[in-house]
Amino acid sequence: EVLWDVIIVGGGAAGLAAAASLLKRKPTLSLAIVEPSDRHYYQPAWTLVGGGCFNPEDTCRSTASLIPHAAKWIRSRVTRLLPQQSQVALENGELLSYRTLVVAPGLELHWAAIAGLEDTLGKHGVTSNYRYDLAAYTWECVQKLKTGRALFTQPAMPIKCAGAPQKAMYLSCHHWEKQGCLNHIDVHFHNTGGALFGVADFVPPLMEYVKRYHAHLAFSSELIAVDGPAQTATFRDTAADGSSHERSEAFDMLHVVPPQRAPAFVRNSELANAAGWVAVDEATLQHPHYANVFSLGDACGASNAKTAAAVRKQAPVVAENLLAWLGKQPMRARYTGYGACPLTVEKGKVVLAEFGYGGKLQPSFPLNPAVARSSMWWLKRHAMPRIYFSLMLKGHEWLAKPDKL
Ligand code: FAD
Repeated sequence: EVLWDVIIVGGGAAGLAAAASLLKRKPTLSLAIVEPSDRHYYQPAWTLVGGGCFNPEDTCRSTASLIPHAAKWIRSRVTRLLPQQSQVALENGELLSYRTLVVAPGLELHWAAIAGLEDTLGKHGVTSNYRYDLAAYTWECVQKLKTGRALFTQPAMPIKCAGAPQKAMYLSCHHWEKQGCLNHIDVHFHNTGGALFGVADFVPPLMEYVKRYHAHLAFSSELIAVDGPAQTATFRDTAADGSSHERSEAFDMLHVVPPQRAPAFVRNSELANAAGWVAVDEATLQHPHYANVFSLGDACGASNAKTAAAVRKQAPVVAENLLAWLGKQPMRARYTGYGACPLTVEKGKVVLAEFGYGGKLQPSFPLNPAVARSSMWWLKRHAMPRIYFSLMLKGHEWLAKPDKL
């Protein structure tokens, strides 16, 4: 029976970046990546696809082309985590044994939590940039709409790329503004939470765009049901005193961001924290009870913003600390919670929100970060996809040197 030095669950942004960082440091490791899908997606560009600024096919690559040469790809799905015996179970019942485990299966989009939604996605003007096939439908809907009501929704936190629900609204509005029809479109943003953005520094520049586009903001307003053929959406509004009431709104276009949670096999495992995500030490990304388990990416329970940008900084930390642990050395690398959200406020301009734990600003550039810039659009539209595929997934740790413990 094989005993792997490292098993990585998930070959998305996090699993591939961790594998590349580990093998770069120690090419002789025996390392397996369990990943069921033969397609890999650069999800951060789906916002641009929905705004008509990126070719959908360019967000997709074959998994085979991205798995590091020295890694073994096990094309299967993990169904159970068995940390007491240092094993994972695959969907065919096979057990794999490891010395160390990296848990990186991303998160689950919980479409079914909104009544009626799954039946109508991709029809009747109901769309979401959170799915590859639907991001292109968003752009179709935006181009078709000349007059009427457009609703954009945001579920409870945490979600991946917390700015993406409003990015969809800004890019849509900018298109309607350019077409001269924004005045005939009634735009509403329904946010289950209580703030436009979690880091207060970035709210003023975003509010300028909300005003410019005449968008109406509703806070503590949660989408609970959709009737596609009737084109009505039902929201549960919660007042300050905790009382709530339901109301229905008509729409011509509805952009939905679904509630998000850890995958069931993580939620129901001994590795989960109270909220269902993989429990980790926020600095080392090591599990607090199972010392041979590490986690990064969207499934990881650290309190950073769930983004590919976070993964870029987490991967070298996991690589260094995991190898230190394997070599019985003290762990030295520290993750400070870095994450980034390029807020596409118009086609051609981005407010680049970069921050760490507790919303502490961590700008990469010596510029006021709370300003919409065309240079940051260029970074998002042209540089980031290249940085992702050519550097981050290859273990070239561009600007990602870990802090020390
Ligand atoms: P993923 O990349 O989703 O990969 C998870 C992988 O695990 C998948 O390949 C999946 O097949 C696999 N898997 C699932 N279950 C199992 C299992 N049981 N066994 C084995 N493998 C499994 N980030 C940014 O930095 N900037 C942005 O502007 C940005 N915008 C975004 C916009 C949208 C619309 C979306 C959807 C995301 C955006 N993100 C952005 C977030 C970014 O895409 C994620 O944070 C990142 O992909 C997380 O990487 P991950 O590997 O944890 O998850």
